[in-house]
Amino acid sequence: MDVVFLPLKGMHIMIFVNKAECVGCEECLHVCPRQSIVMEHEKAVIIPRMCDECERCIPVCPVKAIKIASAPLK
Ligand code: SF4
Ligand code: SF4
Repeated sequence: MDVVFLPLKGMHIMIFVNKAECVGCEECLHVCPRQSIVMEHEKAVIIPRMCDECERCIPVCPVKAIKIASAPLK
C-alpha cells in the first residue's frame, strides 16, 4: 500500500522537483494524470496550479528528486 503524506491542519502539501537532483529521465511525466509536469532545460518542473497532489510521480523517480513540502493555506 502506498504511503500518503497528509497535511497538518491549516496547511496544504506541495509537490516539487529539486532541479539539482533531476536527471531528466521523464519517468514522472508518463505517470502524471494531469499533465502537470513539463521539461525545462532537461529538468522536470511541476506546474502547481495543475497538480492535484496525487503523489503518483514520487515513487517513479529513480533519483528521488520529487519532494513533498507543507505550506500554509492562503
Ligand atoms: S502529484 Fe500527481 S498531479 Fe502532481 S505532478 Fe505528481 S503525478 Fe502529477
Ligand atoms: S522522474 Fe525524477 S529524474 Fe526523472 S525527470 Fe522526473 S524528477 Fe527528473
